Amino acid sequence: MEKIYCKYHPAAPARWQCNACRVNFCTTCAASDTDGIEPVCPLCGQKTVSLGAGNLIRPFWQRIPRFFLFPAHAVPLLFILALAGLSMLVSGSAFGMLFMLVINIVFFKYAFAILEDTAQGYLKPKPITGSVIFDELELPLKQLLLIFFIALLNYKVLGLFGFGPFILAVMISVAAFPAAVMILAVEHSIFKALNPLMILVTIKRIGPSYFIMCLFLALLLSGATVASDLLTTTLPKNIWFASSNFINMYFMLIMYNMMGYVIYQYHEQLGFSVTEAYLEEDSGKPASDPRFRQVDILLQEGKTEEAEKKLIREIEKNPGELDVREKLHRFYIAANNQQGLIQHSADYIMRLLHANKPSEAMRVYLEASQIAPKLKPAGARERHELAELLRKNGQSRAALNLLNNLHQEFPSYEGIPGAYLLVSQIMFEYFGEEKKALQVLDFLNKKYAGHPLLKDVEEYRQVIERMMVANQPST
Ligand SMILES: [Zn+2]
Ligand SMILES: [Zn+2]
Repeated sequence: MEKIYCKYHPAAPARWQCNACRVNFCTTCAASDTDGIEPVCPLCGQKTVSLGAGNLIRPFWQRIPRFFLFPAHAVPLLFILALAGLSMLVSGSAFGMLFMLVINIVFFKYAFAILEDTAQGYLKPKPITGSVIFDELELPLKQLLLIFFIALLNYKVLGLFGFGPFILAVMISVAAFPAAVMILAVEHSIFKALNPLMILVTIKRIGPSYFIMCLFLALLLSGATVASDLLTTTLPKNIWFASSNFINMYFMLIMYNMMGYVIYQYHEQLGFSVTEAYLEEDSGKPASDPRFRQVDILLQEGKTEEAEKKLIREIEKNPGELDVREKLHRFYIAANNQQGLIQHSADYIMRLLHANKPSEAMRVYLEASQIAPKLKPAGARERHELAELLRKNGQSRAALNLLNNLHQEFPSYEGIPGAYLLVSQIMFEYFGEEKKALQVLDFLNKKYAGHPLLKDVEEYRQVIERMMVANQPST
Protein backbone atom coordinates (compact mmCIF):
# COMPACT_ATOMS: atom_id res chain seq x y z
CA MET A 1 0.00 0.00 0.00
CA GLU A 2 1.39 3.38 -1.05
CA LYS A 3 1.74 5.84 1.80
CA ILE A 4 -0.06 9.20 1.65
CA TYR A 5 1.78 12.20 3.04
CA CYS A 6 0.69 15.52 4.52
CA LYS A 7 0.63 18.36 2.01
CA TYR A 8 2.29 20.72 4.47
CA HIS A 9 4.72 18.27 6.08
CA PRO A 10 5.96 16.10 3.22
CA ALA A 11 7.81 13.81 5.64
CA ALA A 12 4.77 13.16 7.81
CA PRO A 13 2.23 10.51 6.85
CA ALA A 14 -1.28 11.89 6.47
CA ARG A 15 -4.11 10.83 8.75
CA TRP A 16 -7.05 12.88 7.42
CA GLN A 17 -8.26 13.99 4.03
CA CYS A 18 -10.57 16.85 3.01
CA ASN A 19 -12.68 15.83 0.03
CA ALA A 20 -13.74 19.41 -0.71
CA CYS A 21 -10.18 20.80 -0.78
CA ARG A 22 -8.53 17.57 -2.00
CA VAL A 23 -5.82 17.99 0.62
CA ASN A 24 -4.29 15.43 3.01
CA PHE A 25 -3.36 16.44 6.55
CA CYS A 26 -1.06 14.92 9.17
CA THR A 27 -2.14 14.76 12.82
CA THR A 28 -0.36 18.05 13.51
CA CYS A 29 -2.23 19.92 10.78
CA ALA A 30 -5.62 18.51 11.65
CA ALA A 31 -5.97 17.12 15.15
CA SER A 32 -9.10 15.53 16.51
CA ASP A 33 -10.05 16.28 20.08
CA THR A 34 -11.34 12.77 20.55
CA ASP A 35 -9.31 9.79 19.39
CA GLY A 36 -10.47 8.59 15.99
CA ILE A 37 -13.12 11.29 15.46
CA GLU A 38 -12.60 13.20 12.22
CA PRO A 39 -11.40 16.78 12.82
CA VAL A 40 -12.50 19.67 10.61
CA CYS A 41 -10.42 20.78 7.63
CA PRO A 42 -8.16 23.72 8.61
CA LEU A 43 -8.80 25.30 5.20
CA CYS A 44 -12.54 25.08 4.67
CA GLY A 45 -13.90 23.97 8.05
CA GLN A 46 -15.71 20.90 6.70
CA LYS A 47 -15.35 17.50 8.30
CA THR A 48 -12.36 15.50 7.06
CA VAL A 49 -12.28 11.81 6.18
CA SER A 50 -10.07 9.23 7.90
CA LEU A 51 -7.23 7.72 5.89
CA GLY A 52 -6.87 4.94 8.45
CA ALA A 53 -4.35 4.68 11.25
CA GLY A 54 -2.33 2.25 9.12
CA ASN A 55 -1.15 5.15 7.00
CA LEU A 56 0.69 6.55 10.02
CA ILE A 57 2.63 3.41 10.78
CA ARG A 58 6.22 3.37 9.63
CA PRO A 59 7.04 0.25 7.58
CA PHE A 60 9.10 -2.25 9.56
CA TRP A 61 12.10 -2.13 7.23
CA GLN A 62 12.49 1.56 8.07
CA ARG A 63 12.94 0.89 11.76
CA ILE A 64 15.39 -2.03 11.81
CA PRO A 65 17.70 -0.30 14.34
CA ARG A 66 14.77 0.01 16.72
CA PHE A 67 14.23 -3.73 16.68
CA PHE A 68 17.88 -4.22 17.57
CA LEU A 69 17.56 -1.79 20.46
CA PHE A 70 14.31 -3.22 21.76
CA PRO A 71 15.84 -5.96 23.99
CA ALA A 72 18.30 -3.35 25.30
CA HIS A 73 15.51 -1.59 27.22
CA ALA A 74 15.90 -2.08 30.97
CA VAL A 75 13.02 -4.52 31.45
CA PRO A 76 13.82 -7.10 28.75
CA LEU A 77 17.56 -6.71 29.28
CA LEU A 78 17.42 -7.43 33.02
CA PHE A 79 15.01 -10.27 32.37
CA ILE A 80 17.22 -12.11 29.89
CA LEU A 81 20.30 -11.36 31.98
CA ALA A 82 18.60 -13.00 34.93
CA LEU A 83 17.62 -16.03 32.84
CA ALA A 84 21.13 -16.31 31.40
CA GLY A 85 22.53 -16.07 34.93
CA LEU A 86 20.25 -18.88 36.07
CA SER A 87 21.38 -21.01 33.16
CA MET A 88 24.97 -20.53 34.32
CA LEU A 89 24.12 -21.91 37.76
CA VAL A 90 22.52 -25.07 36.44
CA SER A 91 24.93 -25.81 33.62
CA GLY A 92 26.45 -29.23 34.16
CA SER A 93 24.12 -30.16 37.00
CA ALA A 94 22.06 -33.32 36.92
CA PHE A 95 18.86 -31.40 36.44
CA GLY A 96 20.49 -29.14 33.87
CA MET A 97 18.45 -30.29 30.88
CA LEU A 98 15.13 -30.09 32.71
CA PHE A 99 16.01 -26.71 34.17
CA MET A 100 16.97 -25.35 30.76
CA LEU A 101 13.58 -26.45 29.46
CA VAL A 102 11.86 -24.44 32.20
CA ILE A 103 14.05 -21.41 31.46
CA ASN A 104 13.22 -21.69 27.78
CA ILE A 105 9.49 -21.99 28.44
CA VAL A 106 9.56 -18.87 30.65
CA PHE A 107 11.65 -17.05 28.08
CA PHE A 108 9.39 -17.89 25.14
CA LYS A 109 6.31 -16.95 27.16
CA TYR A 110 7.90 -13.51 27.50
CA ALA A 111 8.82 -13.43 23.81
CA PHE A 112 5.17 -14.14 22.94
CA ALA A 113 4.02 -11.37 25.28
CA ILE A 114 6.31 -8.98 23.42
CA LEU A 115 4.99 -10.17 20.07
CA GLU A 116 1.40 -9.64 21.23
CA ASP A 117 2.04 -6.22 22.79
CA THR A 118 3.89 -5.01 19.70
CA ALA A 119 1.10 -6.29 17.46
CA GLN A 120 -1.29 -4.15 19.52
CA GLY A 121 0.82 -1.07 18.94
CA TYR A 122 2.70 -0.95 22.26
CA LEU A 123 6.12 -0.26 20.82
CA LYS A 124 8.04 -0.04 24.09
CA PRO A 125 8.45 -2.96 26.48
CA LYS A 126 5.80 -3.14 29.20
CA PRO A 127 6.75 -4.01 32.77
CA ILE A 128 6.85 -7.74 33.48
CA THR A 129 4.12 -8.95 35.79
CA GLY A 130 3.45 -12.42 37.13
CA SER A 131 0.66 -12.95 34.63
CA VAL A 132 2.96 -12.06 31.71
CA ILE A 133 5.14 -15.05 32.61
CA PHE A 134 2.88 -17.56 34.32
CA ASP A 135 -0.54 -17.17 32.66
CA GLU A 136 -1.03 -19.44 29.67
CA LEU A 137 2.36 -21.08 30.02
CA GLU A 138 1.12 -23.61 27.48
CA LEU A 139 1.71 -21.05 24.73
CA PRO A 140 5.45 -21.79 24.46
CA LEU A 141 4.63 -25.49 24.76
CA LYS A 142 2.26 -25.10 21.84
CA GLN A 143 5.12 -23.57 19.88
CA LEU A 144 7.27 -26.55 20.77
CA LEU A 145 4.48 -28.81 19.59
CA LEU A 146 4.23 -26.77 16.40
CA ILE A 147 7.91 -27.31 15.69
CA PHE A 148 7.52 -31.00 16.47
CA PHE A 149 4.58 -31.40 14.05
CA ILE A 150 6.36 -29.57 11.26
CA ALA A 151 9.47 -31.69 11.77
CA LEU A 152 7.36 -34.82 11.77
CA LEU A 153 5.63 -33.75 8.57
CA ASN A 154 8.96 -33.20 6.83
CA TYR A 155 10.23 -36.54 8.06
CA LYS A 156 7.14 -38.20 6.59
CA VAL A 157 7.76 -36.47 3.26
CA LEU A 158 11.32 -37.80 3.27
CA GLY A 159 10.10 -41.32 3.95
CA LEU A 160 7.31 -41.24 1.37
CA PHE A 161 8.71 -39.19 -1.49
CA GLY A 162 12.49 -39.11 -1.12
CA PHE A 163 15.13 -36.44 -0.76
CA GLY A 164 14.08 -33.92 -3.48
CA PRO A 165 10.53 -33.39 -2.19
CA PHE A 166 11.92 -33.36 1.37
CA ILE A 167 14.15 -30.34 0.60
CA LEU A 168 11.16 -28.60 -0.97
CA ALA A 169 9.03 -29.37 2.10
CA VAL A 170 11.73 -27.99 4.42
CA MET A 171 11.92 -24.78 2.38
CA ILE A 172 8.13 -24.35 2.50
CA SER A 173 8.13 -25.07 6.25
CA VAL A 174 10.83 -22.50 6.91
CA ALA A 175 8.95 -19.86 4.90
CA ALA A 176 5.64 -20.67 6.59
CA PHE A 177 6.99 -20.91 10.14
CA PRO A 178 6.95 -17.17 11.01
CA ALA A 179 3.34 -16.93 9.83
CA ALA A 180 2.46 -19.94 12.00
CA VAL A 181 4.13 -18.34 15.04
CA MET A 182 2.30 -15.06 14.36
CA ILE A 183 -1.04 -16.88 14.15
CA LEU A 184 -0.26 -18.78 17.34
CA ALA A 185 0.57 -15.51 19.13
CA VAL A 186 -2.65 -13.83 18.05
CA GLU A 187 -5.06 -16.76 18.19
CA HIS A 188 -3.40 -18.94 20.88
CA SER A 189 -4.58 -21.97 18.89
CA ILE A 190 -2.22 -24.61 17.56
CA PHE A 191 -4.86 -25.86 15.11
CA LYS A 192 -5.15 -22.44 13.52
CA ALA A 193 -1.37 -22.10 13.50
CA LEU A 194 -1.05 -25.43 11.69
CA ASN A 195 -3.88 -24.69 9.24
CA PRO A 196 -2.25 -24.24 5.80
CA LEU A 197 -5.17 -22.09 4.65
CA MET A 198 -4.76 -19.65 7.51
CA ILE A 199 -1.03 -19.51 6.91
CA LEU A 200 -1.58 -18.79 3.22
CA VAL A 201 -4.17 -16.09 3.88
CA THR A 202 -1.87 -14.40 6.40
CA ILE A 203 1.06 -14.41 3.97
CA LYS A 204 -1.16 -13.18 1.13
CA ARG A 205 -2.56 -10.30 3.19
CA ILE A 206 0.86 -9.11 4.29
CA GLY A 207 2.07 -9.48 0.70
CA PRO A 208 5.69 -9.28 -0.48
CA SER A 209 6.67 -7.65 2.84
CA TYR A 210 6.21 -11.04 4.44
CA PHE A 211 9.18 -12.41 2.54
CA ILE A 212 11.26 -9.35 3.36
CA MET A 213 10.50 -10.09 7.00
CA CYS A 214 11.52 -13.76 6.52
CA LEU A 215 14.79 -12.59 5.05
CA PHE A 216 15.47 -10.38 8.07
CA LEU A 217 14.52 -13.20 10.44
CA ALA A 218 16.92 -15.55 8.68
CA LEU A 219 19.68 -12.95 8.91
CA LEU A 220 18.97 -12.49 12.61
CA LEU A 221 19.06 -16.23 13.22
CA SER A 222 22.42 -16.59 11.53
CA GLY A 223 23.54 -13.42 13.32
CA ALA A 224 22.85 -15.08 16.65
CA THR A 225 24.84 -18.15 15.59
CA VAL A 226 27.78 -16.08 14.39
CA ALA A 227 27.77 -14.01 17.57
CA SER A 228 27.70 -17.16 19.73
CA ASP A 229 30.53 -18.67 17.72
CA LEU A 230 32.62 -15.58 18.34
CA LEU A 231 32.64 -16.37 22.05
CA THR A 232 35.99 -18.01 22.56
CA THR A 233 35.95 -21.50 23.90
CA THR A 234 38.68 -20.49 26.32
CA LEU A 235 35.95 -19.03 28.52
CA PRO A 236 35.01 -21.18 31.52
CA LYS A 237 32.32 -23.57 30.33
CA ASN A 238 29.44 -22.19 32.42
CA ILE A 239 30.21 -18.57 31.49
CA TRP A 240 30.40 -19.51 27.84
CA PHE A 241 27.07 -21.31 28.18
CA ALA A 242 25.35 -18.36 29.87
CA SER A 243 26.75 -15.84 27.38
CA SER A 244 25.63 -17.82 24.41
CA ASN A 245 22.17 -18.22 25.98
CA PHE A 246 22.07 -14.48 26.50
CA ILE A 247 22.96 -13.81 22.86
CA ASN A 248 20.35 -16.23 21.60
CA MET A 249 17.65 -14.74 23.80
CA TYR A 250 18.60 -11.23 22.74
CA PHE A 251 18.24 -12.12 19.06
CA MET A 252 15.00 -14.01 19.67
CA LEU A 253 13.45 -10.92 21.28
CA ILE A 254 14.47 -8.87 18.23
CA MET A 255 12.73 -11.42 16.03
CA TYR A 256 9.53 -11.62 18.10
CA ASN A 257 9.40 -7.84 18.33
CA MET A 258 9.73 -7.66 14.54
CA MET A 259 7.02 -10.26 13.90
CA GLY A 260 4.71 -8.38 16.25
CA TYR A 261 5.42 -5.15 14.44
CA VAL A 262 4.59 -6.67 11.08
CA ILE A 263 1.16 -7.63 12.46
CA TYR A 264 0.80 -4.07 13.74
CA GLN A 265 1.85 -2.59 10.40
CA TYR A 266 -0.63 -4.75 8.49
CA HIS A 267 -3.33 -4.84 11.16
CA GLU A 268 -5.94 -3.40 8.79
CA GLN A 269 -5.31 -6.05 6.14
CA LEU A 270 -5.22 -8.75 8.82
CA GLY A 271 -8.41 -7.48 10.45
CA PHE A 272 -6.62 -6.95 13.75
CA SER A 273 -7.56 -4.04 15.98
CA VAL A 274 -4.83 -1.93 17.58
CA THR A 275 -4.52 0.89 20.08
CA GLU A 276 -3.95 4.04 18.09
CA ALA A 277 -2.83 6.04 21.12
CA TYR A 278 0.53 4.30 21.18
CA LEU A 279 1.79 5.55 17.85
CA GLU A 280 5.50 6.19 17.83
CA GLU A 281 6.24 9.76 18.88
CA ASP A 282 8.69 10.37 16.09
CA SER A 283 6.76 8.82 13.23
CA GLY A 284 7.77 11.79 11.11
CA LYS A 285 5.36 13.99 13.00
CA PRO A 286 6.42 17.64 12.90
CA ALA A 287 6.78 19.21 16.33
CA SER A 288 4.85 22.41 15.86
CA ASP A 289 2.71 24.47 18.17
CA PRO A 290 -0.86 23.30 17.55
CA ARG A 291 -2.11 26.88 17.85
CA PHE A 292 -0.17 27.79 14.72
CA ARG A 293 -0.99 24.85 12.49
CA GLN A 294 -3.96 26.54 10.89
CA VAL A 295 -2.03 29.80 10.53
CA ASP A 296 0.86 27.97 8.86
CA ILE A 297 -1.49 26.24 6.45
CA LEU A 298 -3.29 29.50 5.59
CA LEU A 299 0.06 31.20 4.99
CA GLN A 300 1.24 28.40 2.73
CA GLU A 301 -1.99 28.69 0.77
CA GLY A 302 -1.38 32.44 0.36
CA LYS A 303 -4.40 33.31 2.50
CA THR A 304 -2.43 35.95 4.40
CA GLU A 305 -5.37 38.09 5.50
CA GLU A 306 -7.07 35.12 7.09
CA ALA A 307 -3.84 34.09 8.78
CA GLU A 308 -3.38 37.62 10.15
CA LYS A 309 -6.96 37.75 11.44
CA LYS A 310 -6.56 34.36 13.07
CA LEU A 311 -3.39 35.50 14.87
CA ILE A 312 -4.99 38.75 16.03
CA ARG A 313 -7.99 36.82 17.35
CA GLU A 314 -5.60 34.47 19.16
CA ILE A 315 -3.82 37.48 20.76
CA GLU A 316 -7.13 39.02 21.82
CA LYS A 317 -8.01 35.74 23.51
CA ASN A 318 -4.65 35.43 25.30
CA PRO A 319 -2.96 38.85 25.44
CA GLY A 320 -0.10 37.47 27.55
CA GLU A 321 1.00 34.78 25.07
CA LEU A 322 4.30 36.08 23.75
CA ASP A 323 4.71 33.21 21.23
CA VAL A 324 1.64 34.29 19.30
CA ARG A 325 2.86 37.88 19.32
CA GLU A 326 6.23 36.75 17.99
CA LYS A 327 4.43 34.90 15.21
CA LEU A 328 2.47 38.02 14.22
CA HIS A 329 5.63 40.12 14.45
CA ARG A 330 7.42 37.70 12.09
CA PHE A 331 4.42 37.82 9.79
CA TYR A 332 4.52 41.63 9.55
CA ILE A 333 8.29 41.63 9.05
CA ALA A 334 7.96 39.13 6.21
CA ALA A 335 5.13 41.16 4.69
CA ASN A 336 7.00 44.48 5.12
CA ASN A 337 3.86 45.74 6.80
CA GLN A 338 4.67 49.12 8.45
CA GLN A 339 1.19 49.69 9.81
CA GLY A 340 1.00 46.23 11.32
CA LEU A 341 4.39 46.62 12.98
CA ILE A 342 3.50 50.01 14.45
CA GLN A 343 0.19 48.73 15.76
CA HIS A 344 1.34 45.38 17.00
CA SER A 345 5.08 45.12 17.53
CA ALA A 346 5.27 48.29 19.65
CA ASP A 347 2.90 46.61 22.10
CA TYR A 348 4.87 43.38 21.84
CA ILE A 349 8.08 45.23 22.81
CA MET A 350 6.36 46.69 25.89
CA ARG A 351 5.28 43.23 26.96
CA LEU A 352 8.74 41.79 26.45
CA LEU A 353 10.19 44.52 28.65
CA HIS A 354 7.59 43.85 31.32
CA ALA A 355 8.34 40.12 31.08
CA ASN A 356 11.98 40.98 31.80
CA LYS A 357 13.21 39.91 28.36
CA PRO A 358 15.31 42.95 27.46
CA SER A 359 17.42 41.40 24.72
CA GLU A 360 14.28 40.03 23.03
CA ALA A 361 12.67 43.47 23.23
CA MET A 362 15.77 45.02 21.67
CA ARG A 363 15.82 42.48 18.83
CA VAL A 364 12.13 43.03 18.06
CA TYR A 365 12.60 46.81 18.12
CA LEU A 366 15.61 46.72 15.81
CA GLU A 367 13.86 44.38 13.36
CA ALA A 368 10.66 46.39 13.33
CA SER A 369 12.25 49.85 13.18
CA GLN A 370 14.13 48.91 10.01
CA ILE A 371 10.79 48.68 8.24
CA ALA A 372 8.81 51.13 10.36
CA PRO A 373 11.23 53.84 11.59
CA LYS A 374 8.36 55.66 13.33
CA LEU A 375 7.66 52.70 15.60
CA LYS A 376 8.04 53.43 19.31
CA PRO A 377 6.72 51.73 22.44
CA ALA A 378 3.77 53.65 23.85
CA GLY A 379 5.17 54.28 27.36
CA ALA A 380 7.87 56.80 28.33
CA ARG A 381 9.44 54.46 30.87
CA GLU A 382 9.66 51.67 28.29
CA ARG A 383 11.21 53.96 25.67
CA HIS A 384 13.75 55.11 28.21
CA GLU A 385 14.58 51.55 29.29
CA LEU A 386 14.91 50.38 25.69
CA ALA A 387 17.11 53.37 24.84
CA GLU A 388 19.48 52.52 27.72
CA LEU A 389 19.68 48.96 26.44
CA LEU A 390 20.33 50.02 22.87
CA ARG A 391 23.02 52.46 23.93
CA LYS A 392 24.77 49.74 25.96
CA ASN A 393 24.70 47.51 22.90
CA GLY A 394 26.22 50.04 20.54
CA GLN A 395 22.93 51.13 18.96
CA SER A 396 23.24 54.83 19.85
CA ARG A 397 21.38 56.14 16.83
CA ALA A 398 18.36 53.93 17.58
CA ALA A 399 18.51 54.96 21.24
CA LEU A 400 18.46 58.64 20.30
CA ASN A 401 15.53 58.06 17.97
CA LEU A 402 13.51 56.61 20.86
CA LEU A 403 14.20 59.55 23.19
CA ASN A 404 13.53 62.29 20.66
CA ASN A 405 10.97 64.79 22.01
CA LEU A 406 10.28 62.62 25.03
CA HIS A 407 9.57 65.68 27.23
CA GLN A 408 6.95 66.97 24.81
CA GLU A 409 5.15 63.68 24.45
CA PHE A 410 5.38 62.77 28.14
CA PRO A 411 5.70 66.04 30.08
CA SER A 412 4.91 64.38 33.39
CA TYR A 413 7.45 61.54 33.05
CA GLU A 414 9.75 61.81 36.07
CA GLY A 415 12.66 60.13 34.29
CA ILE A 416 13.21 62.96 31.79
CA PRO A 417 16.49 64.21 33.40
CA GLY A 418 18.00 60.72 33.21
CA ALA A 419 16.76 60.19 29.66
CA TYR A 420 18.08 63.55 28.48
CA LEU A 421 21.41 63.08 30.19
CA LEU A 422 21.64 59.98 28.02
CA VAL A 423 20.69 62.05 24.97
CA SER A 424 23.43 64.52 25.78
CA GLN A 425 25.99 61.73 26.15
CA ILE A 426 25.01 60.21 22.80
CA MET A 427 25.14 63.66 21.13
CA PHE A 428 28.61 64.29 22.42
CA GLU A 429 30.23 60.84 22.39
CA TYR A 430 28.63 59.32 19.32
CA PHE A 431 27.90 62.30 17.08
CA GLY A 432 30.56 64.69 18.35
CA GLU A 433 27.95 67.43 18.69
CA GLU A 434 29.25 69.18 21.81
CA LYS A 435 27.09 72.29 21.31
CA LYS A 436 23.87 70.31 21.07
CA ALA A 437 24.95 68.17 24.02
CA LEU A 438 25.48 71.30 26.12
CA GLN A 439 22.12 72.71 25.00
CA VAL A 440 20.38 69.61 26.32
CA LEU A 441 22.19 70.02 29.66
CA ASP A 442 21.19 73.70 29.81
CA PHE A 443 17.61 72.73 29.21
CA LEU A 444 17.74 70.29 32.12
CA ASN A 445 19.31 72.87 34.44
CA LYS A 446 16.60 75.34 33.64
CA LYS A 447 13.66 73.02 33.67
CA TYR A 448 14.51 70.65 36.52
CA ALA A 449 16.18 72.87 39.11
CA GLY A 450 16.65 70.98 42.36
CA HIS A 451 16.42 67.53 40.73
CA PRO A 452 18.88 65.09 42.37
CA LEU A 453 20.32 64.18 38.99
CA LEU A 454 21.49 67.73 38.29
CA LYS A 455 24.72 66.90 40.10
CA ASP A 456 25.50 64.37 37.36
CA VAL A 457 24.39 66.87 34.74
CA GLU A 458 26.88 69.36 36.08
CA GLU A 459 29.66 66.76 36.17
CA TYR A 460 29.00 65.84 32.57
CA ARG A 461 29.08 69.51 31.53
CA GLN A 462 32.57 69.74 33.00
CA VAL A 463 33.63 66.62 31.12
CA ILE A 464 32.48 68.14 27.84
CA GLU A 465 34.16 71.45 28.52
CA ARG A 466 37.47 69.83 29.51
CA MET A 467 37.42 67.75 26.33
CA MET A 468 36.67 70.85 24.26
CA VAL A 469 39.69 72.67 25.75
CA ALA A 470 41.93 69.65 25.25
CA ASN A 471 40.86 69.29 21.64
CA GLN A 472 41.38 72.96 20.76
CA PRO A 473 44.17 73.30 18.23
CA SER A 474 47.13 75.04 19.88
CA THR A 475 48.16 78.21 18.09
ZN1 LIG B 1 0.99 18.38 8.33
ZN1 LIG C 1 -11.30 21.49 3.19
